[in-house]
Amino acid sequence: MQDAKLIAKAHDDHGTVIALNDRVTAGGDELLIVGGPCSVESLEQMEAIATRLGAGTVQALRGGVYKPRTSPYAFQGLGESGLAILDRVRRRYHLPVITEVMAIHQIEAISAHADVLQVGSRNMQNFDLLKALGEIDQPVVLKRGLAATIQEFVMAAEYIAAHGNPNIILCERGIRSFDSYTRNVLDLAAVVALKQITHLPVLVDPSHAAGKRELVPNLAKAAIAAGADGLMIECHPVPEESVSDARQALSLEDMNALVESLRPIATAVGRIIPDMIGSKEPVLA
Ligand code: PEP
Ligand code: MN
Repeated sequence: MQDAKLIAKAHDDHGTVIALNDRVTAGGDELLIVGGPCSVESLEQMEAIATRLGAGTVQALRGGVYKPRTSPYAFQGLGESGLAILDRVRRRYHLPVITEVMAIHQIEAISAHADVLQVGSRNMQNFDLLKALGEIDQPVVLKRGLAATIQEFVMAAEYIAAHGNPNIILCERGIRSFDSYTRNVLDLAAVVALKQITHLPVLVDPSHAAGKRELVPNLAKAAIAAGADGLMIECHPVPEESVSDARQALSLEDMNALVESLRPIATAVGRIIPDMIGSKEPVLA
């Protein structure tokens, strides 16, 4: 394995704790549970998610506005109007928001309206994008490439660090294999390995790994038991009506129940699910 220099874990290293905003972190004792739709669709949708996820269910919201779709004819995301929705919701409910950046020219606008920039699987080795994200200081969630080795994943993260941004959160989201029953294969060995090799926080996205909502809760539990620092889970007020990835979206009720069911597992592995981050009621008009 080629050596990562900046993100490699030294013997006495503790994990790096990364701040998403003034109250939410990744990599400490507190787990980071991120929930939200695949795509931002409307202000009403994001408001429903912010208000109906029980207090303490999520510490951050997700939602794509620039969408990497397989078909050029599929919904491509709301773009800048979606960013405005994310910005409004994050201020109104005091919750950090995470959204995908697909191109260098989007970085400035996304940085202004979101707390965390996500690099999707399809861009994990877009080295120019990684270098450009090294120039900012906002946290970056780097998702594992569809067919990336652990080494390639680590070195992609090293690009961001080498170009100046140490605020990197890794996300295992499943890798391609031969079985079409699941969308991808969730690689929990990678989670264990990444925690040993690097000092970075590691999230797990069981939604894109499984591709089927009924598989998500137990994979989420396994991820926390395996030492993940948190989860990224797709959920929607009316899952069947999601404009993208409807089959894997959880209802908000199921999302609340899932996080409740994680509490004993979190305790067993010495982690905490914060009780109350953000606000269930709007803090701003
Ligand atoms: C996403 O999280 O919205 C997404 C597109 O996931 P991935 O890049 O892992 O496919
Ligand atoms: Mn999705």
